[in-house]
Order: sequence, then structure tokens, then C-alpha cells
Amino acid sequence: MIDYAIDGDGIATLAWNMPERPQNVIDGESVEAFIAAIGRAVGDPAAKAILVTSAKRDFIAGSDPEWLFAAKDPERILERTLRFHRALRQLENCGKPVAAALPGSALGGGLEVALVAHYRVAAGDVRARFGFPEVTLGLMPGAGATQRLPRRIGIERALPLLLEGRRLGAAEALAAGLVDTVVAPGEERRAARAWLLGRGAGESHQPWDGEGYALPGGAMASPDVQQALMAANALLHARTFGNYPALQNILSAVYEGLVTDIDTGLVAEARYFVRTLLSPQARAMVDTLVFAVNEANRLAARPDGVPTQVYTQVGILGAGMMGSGIAFVTAKAGIAVVLLDTTMEAAERGRSHARDVARRQVERGVLAADEAEALVARIDPSTDYTRLAGTELAIEAVFEDRAVKADVTRRAEAVTDATAILASNTSTLPISGLAEASVRPANFIGLHFFSPVEKMPLVEVIVGRRTSRETVARALDFVRALGMTPIVVNDARGFYTSRVFSSYLLEGMAMVSEGVVPALVENAATMAGMPVGPLALADEVSIELIHRINGQARADLGKAYRPQPGEEVVARMVELGRVGKKAGRGFYDYPAGAAKRLWPGLAEEYPSTARQPAVGSLIERFLTVQAVEAARCLDEGVVTSARDADVGAVLGWGFPAFRGGPISHIRGVGVAAFGAQCERLAARHGQRFAPPPRLEECLR
Ligand code: NAD
Repeated sequence: MIDYAIDGDGIATLAWNMPERPQNVIDGESVEAFIAAIGRAVGDPAAKAILVTSAKRDFIAGSDPEWLFAAKDPERILERTLRFHRALRQLENCGKPVAAALPGSALGGGLEVALVAHYRVAAGDVRARFGFPEVTLGLMPGAGATQRLPRRIGIERALPLLLEGRRLGAAEALAAGLVDTVVAPGEERRAARAWLLGRGAGESHQPWDGEGYALPGGAMASPDVQQALMAANALLHARTFGNYPALQNILSAVYEGLVTDIDTGLVAEARYFVRTLLSPQARAMVDTLVFAVNEANRLAARPDGVPTQVYTQVGILGAGMMGSGIAFVTAKAGIAVVLLDTTMEAAERGRSHARDVARRQVERGVLAADEAEALVARIDPSTDYTRLAGTELAIEAVFEDRAVKADVTRRAEAVTDATAILASNTSTLPISGLAEASVRPANFIGLHFFSPVEKMPLVEVIVGRRTSRETVARALDFVRALGMTPIVVNDARGFYTSRVFSSYLLEGMAMVSEGVVPALVENAATMAGMPVGPLALADEVSIELIHRINGQARADLGKAYRPQPGEEVVARMVELGRVGKKAGRGFYDYPAGAAKRLWPGLAEEYPSTARQPAVGSLIERFLTVQAVEAARCLDEGVVTSARDADVGAVLGWGFPAFRGGPISHIRGVGVAAFGAQCERLAARHGQRFAPPPRLEECLR
């Protein structure tokens, strides 16, 4: 678990080396082993200095969530946390210099262990990441970071690192003060040893344990620091409305811990840590973002008995916004891409887009320059369909037009092998209908990527009426090869994500038509936890596109079509020529060089009522309309698992992660209470709120 060795120079090396795990993690066993190793090194008279490092490629990847969430008893978690604190204090105060050599990533608890060292050396590996991503899972650091980091670099510099959860590359980590030096990969132990034997020999304590220590960047009581804390507090509330207690608890731990000595501060942190860990928000986020996403990534929904498909060459038809993004992620996964468009110029433009994305990733230090070059070289722009021969998969991302899609399907199938898969990236057209143009409908499937492809990890895999199990399995193998997260969805209007997402947009517009002040509509949505209000989002998506989709559904469904109350607002906006952000005018105005602002004319179209609804009732509507639509999708078999419904919602359209997803939300409210809530809202606002008849069964 922890390799212990002592050399001729009197340096005791404690190397994390967890057996049967690709990465070191903080868990019950590794913490105990580390505590024991600390005791041994501290008590060993032959050890003059201590080097903490890892025998694996990375240092420590953070805590094991399974272990973290297995414990339920607050007193026991507190005791265990304080025990680790005491051991880490023993290490930094033992009178021997301590250095950390980080061969790769040090995240969360791993970086906290590194912060205990008097000196940190990081290897400048492009893959290495440093930071405190706990907040992205509703958690907070629990091994001293809220105390050691501000004492090392000052409160103002520490707060964003603790509150934003960003993972920094090695150079950024050096600039941020997380590490003391960056050396060539493989040199980190040597550099750390050189420090221990040289300059470090006389430095065997932390600055905060020494004489005359002053907090960098100004003491707690200084006006600058007080102002920074006040601003951070206000900003936090403005952005999150108290929905993420982890953020508040981090700020409180910093505030309370920094007015006192470090030992008292660590106890304060431990108490906030326990409270955060046991919060329903952390539980919901970890359940969905870790456990459910991991299950989806392991292809839990993959049909059995189909050999794994290895991809060597993929064709992409249409080199526009989506096609070029898909080309990028495919080439990044090491797969050769034929990128096809109607002109060479358009195909080249698609590759240039991929090149730009790669360049930005190199600038951010997350992609090596030679890897970027190889990635771009793997994309072969062309107008020649015969180049598709030999591809295992062709993905079409041409215009959203049935005839154009049918044409490229026929042309691609004419040159590819009988086993090749043809996938459509359509966002609205039913897959079974598009498959009618295919001579091999069993090999036809939907692979719905999200924009921007290189940032959005979700892929909705859409199973058409005639899609074979084998094609589903092989398509899932492709998503896995890309390192993205699939959800499996049956073919239905709007599939899953677009259907539920549009219920959110239309609810916002329904509110506008009822005379709710537009700013209140937008604020209620963000207070519910949605990242962007429905009116701003409709502008982004294009009101015209929403109108077209509504019109298509009306034409396809005929008498069965049930218009939603928000649709008349959509139609009116299109009539007024206010079609969205691209046109520079929608629900918002977009003045050049200034921030967007709500269009004042909206108040004339839809006068505000004298009595405005309570914000809580609007929040309830936003959450319920999405949750009930998601439940309907489960009931109708559009999504086949609650897990996929939650993962798709959180990753696909930004359903509040702290609620775990729409199905977790229903469970949180309680199925019976949720049903009653739906009945009440349906009576007042319409049938869109009516719960599916088998609510209870479908959530099982
Ligand atoms: P786009 O207009 O940016 O790109 C379409 C590309 O297809 C253009 O480069 C065009 O020249 C090319 N093309 C047209 N006809 C062709 C043909 N016969 N052969 C080869 N190439 C042809 O569009 P986009 O935003 O990339 O969308 C493409 C598809 O992806 C659509 O079906 C859309 O619904 C879907 N989609 C879009 C988004 C999004 O956010 N934009 C998200 C998910 C899915």
C-alpha cells in the first residue's frame, strides 16, 4: 500500500502504491497504511528527511467515493477525519524536512497530502492535473486544504481554487502556488531529494508553525481580505442561491479557521466536512455524476453476446459545426476519420475547426503539441464517397432535412461494407423514418451528440424500430472508445433529452403568456438550479427552430397533437421577427459591446399582471414539468432506466446536479407527494402536469 525505503543519505521514501488499482486513492486502508508509514518515518532515527511520492503514474487521484459514502455516522466520520488530521500534523511538525514528488495528477485529498510537505515538486506531464474538484460533486476538502492553502498562498488566491474546483495543468499549478517547482517527467524524485539534502535540510516546519508568521496577502482583519470574503459570500449567493451547501461550508471553514490557530482551524474544517458529506445534495450529485455515470460508461445497457467492435476508420458526412466536432473527438480517440462534405472547401473548413480546438487544448496544457498534430493528421477531408470504403461506421451530420439525409445515406451505403453501421446525428427527425432510406435498416441507429462536442460528454444512442441489438452494442463500443457517456433511448419524438428540455423552455414561455414578469421567470429558473433561464436559452437555441419543431410535430401528429401553452409565444416572437440571439433580437436585445438585456417590448405583448406569483410556485413548476415529462418517458419506454434519465438530464441539458436528475428529484420529494403535487398543478395549469398512470411502478 505504502512502500517504505530508507537510503544511504537518510531519506525515507513513502511511496503510495495501491495494489490492484490503476490509481492511488484515499480510502480506509490507504489512510491507515499512510498513518502507519508516517509513524515509522518520524520515529526512525536513521531517517533524516522524508520523501512522499507514488510508485504509480499519478500521485493520488482523490478519495474513493464508494468508501467516502459508505459511512453514515457523523461521529465516526468526524473521528476518522480528525485522526487523519493528527497524522498529517505529525508529519509536517516532526522536525524533519518533508518533500513531495508528484509524478502525475494530485487531486482532492491527494493534493491535500502534498500540501503537508514543506516542498512540492511536480512532473511537467501534460496529462497531470492539480486541484480540488470536490465541489463539482457537492463535497469539500477534508484533509486540511481549507486551512493550509490560504495559509500558504493567501485567502484571495486560495478561494477560487477551493470554490471553483478547476483542475489545473502543471504550469498553472505552479503559477497558482499549488506546487513549488515543475521539472521534466521522471526527474521529480531526484529534484525533491536534491531539495531535501540541500536547501531543505534546514527547513523542517511549515511557515505557519514558525515564528513571526503573517498570512500572505494580508491578515484576516485587513480591509482587503474582509472585502474579498464579503464579495465571495455575496457572489456565491447570487450564483447559487444557497443550492450548494458545500460552497458555503468551504467559505465558513476558511473564515472560521483563519481567525484562529491551524489546529483549531482543522477541527472547524472537519466539522464542516462531515456536514457537507452527509448533505442530500452531495449524495444526489455523487449518485448521478459518479455511480450512475460510471455504470453508463461501463456500458451497463449493452446487449450481451456481441463481440466488442474495434474502430479503425470512421466516416463523417457533413463537416459543419457538429461534423467537425465529432471528427475531433473521434480523431482524439486515435481513430482515422474521413470527413466528407459537398465541396473540398467545406471539408477543409471542418478540419480547420478541429485544428483550432486542438490548438486551444494545447494552449491550456491539456494536450501535447505532438499529439495535437497527430490528431489533426488523422482527419482526412474529402468530397469522394468511395473513400468511405472500409469504414466500420459512418455518421451523418448534414442539414436537418429528410431528403438530404436520405441521399447521403444511400450514397454512403453504396460504398461501405454490409456490416458497416450508419448513424444519424439528427436532433429532431425520428430514426425509424430516416432508416426507410437505408438498405440496411438493422445497421441504422441514432448517435445524438451535443454542442460543443468536445466539451459535452453525453451521447444519446437512439434505437430505431428496426435497429438490431448488435448495432446497439457496436454503437455503444464507439461511444466508449471516445471516452464519452452514452444513454440508450428508444425512438420517439424529441427522443429523450430534447423532449424534456423543451418542456422547460415552453413552461417559461407559458409563464410569460400568463403575465409573469419575464425577469421573474428567468430568476425563478436559476433559483431552481437551472444554469440559464428559459428565455435566454430559447434565444440561444433559436426561437425559429423551436417554432419549426412545433410545426413539424403538429403536421406529423394531426388530430392527436396537443398544443402547449408556451407555443403561442413562440409563434408570436417569430411573427415579430424576434427569432433569437443569432438575429440579434429575441426575448433579449443584444446591443453591440454591451450585455444582453430583456426586450422591453415583451411587456407590451404580454402585460404583467398586477399580482405576481410567489417565486416558490414558479420554481415548483419548472422542476415538476421536467420531472413529470421524464417520468412519462420512463413510463413509455423512451428511456429504459432511471439512471439514464438522470444522467441524460444532468449532462445533457443542465438539470440541477444537486437534485441528482429529474427521477432523483421525484424520489427526493417522495413518489406519493410528487403525484399529489402533479395533480394540483394539473388542475391549475393543465394536463402537461398530469402524472403518468403508473408513476410508482415506473420509478421502481
Ligand atoms: P451545419 O449547417 O453547421 O453543418 C451541416 C454541414 O453538412 C455543412 O457543412 C454542409 O455543407 C454539409 N452538407 C449538406 N449537405 C451535404 C451533403 N449532401 N453531403 C455532404 N455534406 C453535406 O449543421 P450542424 O449544426 O452541424 O448540424 C448537423 C446535424 O446535426 C443536423 O442534423 C442537426 O440537427 C444535428 N445536431 C445539431 C446540433 C447543434 O447544436 N447544432 C446538436 C445536435 C445535433
